[in-house]
Amino acid sequence: MLSLDTCDADFMTSALAAAGAAADRGEVPVGAVVVSEGIIVGMGYNRREQSQSPLSHAEMIAIDEASRRLRSWRLKDCDLYVTLEPCIMCTGAIIQARMRRLIFGCVDPKAGAVESLYRLCEDQRLNHQLPVVGGMLAEASSVLLADFFARLRQQKRENRKAERWPSPVEGA
Ligand code: ZN
Repeated sequence: MLSLDTCDADFMTSALAAAGAAADRGEVPVGAVVVSEGIIVGMGYNRREQSQSPLSHAEMIAIDEASRRLRSWRLKDCDLYVTLEPCIMCTGAIIQARMRRLIFGCVDPKAGAVESLYRLCEDQRLNHQLPVVGGMLAEASSVLLADFFARLRQQKRENRKAERWPSPVEGA
């Protein structure tokens, strides 16, 4: 029988694959899956640019899909795996859905609401708390993000260069 850790790593690998799909589409690479009884029932990747919606975070899409599939807003038997520490909005949705467990990859010091800026999942003032496992395959997740932003910076540099030195045809 597989240990919980092995299963967790497998599901996080699926979330990483979803994050990769985001990167391929020019979106900040964050991916998430919702798992119920050992089966992925929701999957999402960040698509904020494509949808031009601030709600289109990976977790929101994965939770929405899981709720639809299970025909319930209560996901109390579900675990969420996400490659980056969730923000305030997504942690709010996780709590609203009464999820059982949260497993995330790397921390987000600028926006994380689970460890970094807030600790919403353990806040006793709210009506639901849930256990959290952080740092699952964190290295792979942060490398994906770092590569994406390095490419973006490189692209910006090249664009600036093209503006400064127009091609002979354009300059004529
Ligand atoms: Zn979020």
